Parts: sequence; structure tokens; C-alpha cells
Amino acid sequence: MYNPKSLKAEEFINHEEILETLEYAEKNKNNVELIDKILEKAKELKGLSHREASVLLACEIPEKINEVYALAEQIKKDFYGNRIVIFAPLYLSNYCVNGCVYCPYHHQNSHIVRKKLTQEEVKAEVIALQDMGHKRLAIEAGEDPVNNPIEYILDCIKTIYSIQHKNGAIRRVNVNIAATTVENYKKLKDAGIGTYILFQETYHKESYEQLHPTGPKHNYAYHTEAMDRAMEGGIDDVGLGVLFGLEMYKYEFAGLLMHAEHLEAVHGVGPHTISVPRVKKADDIDPDTFDNGISDEIFEKIAACIRVAVPYTGMIISTRENEKVRKQMLHLGVSQISGASRTSVGGYAEKERPHDTEQFDVSDQRTLDEVVKWLMDMDYIPSFCTACYREGRTGDRFMALCKSKQIQNCCHPNALMTLKEFLEDYASPKTKEVGEKLIEKEIENIGKDKVKQIVRERLKKIEQGDRDFRF
Ligand code: SF4
Ligand code: SF4
Repeated sequence: MYNPKSLKAEEFINHEEILETLEYAEKNKNNVELIDKILEKAKELKGLSHREASVLLACEIPEKINEVYALAEQIKKDFYGNRIVIFAPLYLSNYCVNGCVYCPYHHQNSHIVRKKLTQEEVKAEVIALQDMGHKRLAIEAGEDPVNNPIEYILDCIKTIYSIQHKNGAIRRVNVNIAATTVENYKKLKDAGIGTYILFQETYHKESYEQLHPTGPKHNYAYHTEAMDRAMEGGIDDVGLGVLFGLEMYKYEFAGLLMHAEHLEAVHGVGPHTISVPRVKKADDIDPDTFDNGISDEIFEKIAACIRVAVPYTGMIISTRENEKVRKQMLHLGVSQISGASRTSVGGYAEKERPHDTEQFDVSDQRTLDEVVKWLMDMDYIPSFCTACYREGRTGDRFMALCKSKQIQNCCHPNALMTLKEFLEDYASPKTKEVGEKLIEKEIENIGKDKVKQIVRERLKKIEQGDRDFRF
């Protein structure tokens, strides 16, 4: 029985409820009256239920789809302004005991090189990332209790936070590791992590079990209930995600929103972020073998519908996607992107992009400087801000600020100050020139005169060598 408040995976992600939702959406996909009603509700910026949002996703009327897109763009501006937060993934180890059929790190892949960073190598990676200008990382590791126990992950986090190289610093470490115990989540919380990210991959239990034939990840309930354990362990910012292309996208979409509703119902706070990766080519993996692949157009429609359904949740897109898709997704709701990513273990410290331990093909291979300039050329403010969790703005505190749109009073000035740091320390002359002009223009968009004045003072101080100001 469907129950968003239940702690049992099969009750809060209920198969029958999803099937009924899909049937309802299919029946109403051309019901203009209902679609208009849903759009009116969405304009109140309080979100939509999985059923309502599924009707929008199923809708085939071009004018209505355009209305969804326009609304998504408006919501994005209202909640996030024009700042885009930048991060990079850091692969610690590709040892893995699981058998995920879509990932080259799966246990049976005997020809991929296995590698686990030593603390010295972590240091080299972090210095390389700092030298690009990164401040926010998402660490990634396969599941392997012998090679990658929680103590190893904790050691790496400690190392990452401890490295101060020139003006560089990693100020926020998000963690993307396998589902684990409440006790381990507590340890991660104590280590000062930002968001705990775990992709569901697919919400369809039967497919899930087929796609994860061996290893601890095979257990659908343990994986699906991980966010509840993370929250019990004190981590109040969690990131959901679906690997689009594995199951029917409409099914995944409904499941994803039901998961968000469940977190809100049980813990009083929805997901901090939602990621929208698609299956990509990699060693041993051909995405064409999955017959649920989605086109760029459908992918964009999914992003717009997520934006409209959960306006206060950050949306993330990685370098799995090319420049063109990323550009379109930024318009429709994405608020965070990775830049200059290397998806191999130890990849940043290498001069040339290595492929031997890569998890997936990177479509967008531009440097961070190029990504920053590209964003600014489109009038976005690239932001290296990490202020919230360091100021204790997490969980329901963060959500309250986000839902009331007050968070923009922090995001906007923080984006300008962290961009200024990037321009001073890492940018090419051309990027610096474009950036200085953008900052000058964007200071005028700060609402309060007092804040404007503080930002101007701090920008001066950054020029003089001070760092790490934040609201
Ligand atoms: S997706 Fe994660 S758990 Fe699965 S094989 Fe790859 S690294 Fe291991
Ligand atoms: S102020 Fe908070 S929400 Fe805004 S960009 Fe910084 S960390 Fe993110």
C-alpha cells in the first residue's frame, strides 16, 4: 500500500501507485483544463505532487509544453537568480564488489585497471583541483568493504580539508558513496561533509534487481531506504538522482518525486539536490544495450518538469553531457554543474586525460577557465560558493530560506565574491576581463545598499589578498 510516511521502500516508492500515476497521466495528457489548473498551482511556487507533475511530463500539446518550459525558466530565476554553482568530482577508488551492469567498475570487469588513491595521491589530486580554482568537490568511490572501508573515506575527507595550497582550499566535500549504516552516516556527518549523494539508478524494483545482479547493492530496500538512514545519522542535506536511460523515464520521474515527497513527509525536509545523469559509453559499457535511452528533447522536458515540481531543490548536471545540452538545461532549471571533470582515479594530477580507470566518457572536456567564461558570456555568474553548510544553513533551515527565496540574498553576493577570487587567482586574462565587467554589472542587482557596500569593500580586500568572505 502506498504510504509516503512509511519507512519501507516498497510502500513509499509504491509500484502500484506509480502505475496508476502513469495511467492517470496518460489519460490526462491532452486535458487542457487539468493542465492549466496544474500550471496555475505550479505558479504558486510551492511544488507539485508526483501525479500532477507526471501529467505535465506526459503532455503532448506544444503550447502547453512551452508554458512548462517558460515557467521552469521563471522559477529558476526566482529561486536561484543567475548564479551557477560549480563543482568537480574526485574519484578515490574504483575497487567495487557490486555487479552493476551499466558501470565499468563492476566487479566482473577484469580488464579495467583497479586503483585506490593513497593519501599522498589524494593530496596531489586536490592540489591539481585547487590550481584550477575548484572549491567544492564530490568524492566518489566504489563499494568495497576491504579496499574502501569507511575509515579510508574519512581519512580522504580529512586530507582534502587539510590542504592549503597557495590561495586554494576545498571548502565543501560532498560524498557519493554506497548506501551504508546509520553509524557510518554519523561518522560522515562528523567529518564535516556537505551533501550525501546517492543515485537510486532506477526506482523500478524488478529492473533494479536485474541491473544489480550481485553484491550488496542488489538489495533494493537497503539502497532505497539509505536516505532515511543518512538523515537518522544527522545528515540533513541529501542528493537524489536517477540514471536516465535504464528504465522507462516516466516511471523514474514519478519514483523520484515520490522519494522527494517521502523525505519531506518523514523528515520535514526534501532533497537538497537532484542529479540527472544519463547512461554513457564507458569501458565494457555500451549505452545502446539499454533500450530505454532518452533523446535530448525528452531529457530537457524532464528537467523542466522537475524544476516546476520541486522548485526549491538544486538540480545538477555533469560533464557526461555536452556543451549544447548543458546550455539548454541551464535555462530550464539546472543550478549546479561540474567543470573540467576527470572521471578516472588519479586523473587530475596527470597532464593528459587518462582513460584507463575512467567511469564514463566525458562529453564536455573544456577547462574550468573555459567553462567559467562560457557561463559569463551567457550572463550567468559562475559561483564557487560553499557558504551554507559552513554557516549552519542546512536541512530545514536551508529549505525555509530557499522556499521564501531569501537565500538569494546570500547566493548572489557570495557568487560575486567567489568569482572574484577565481578571477584573481586562476583566470586567464580574457576571462578576468569579462568577469570584472560582469561583477561590476551584477553588484547593481544587489537589493540592499548596505550589502552592496559590504560587497564592494570585500571585493577590494580580495584584490589585496584576503580570501573566504561569505554571507
Ligand atoms: S555504480 Fe557504483 S556500486 Fe555500481 S559498479 Fe559502479 S562504482 Fe560499483
Ligand atoms: S549561499 Fe548557500 S545556496 Fe547559495 S550558492 Fe552559496 S552554498 Fe549554495
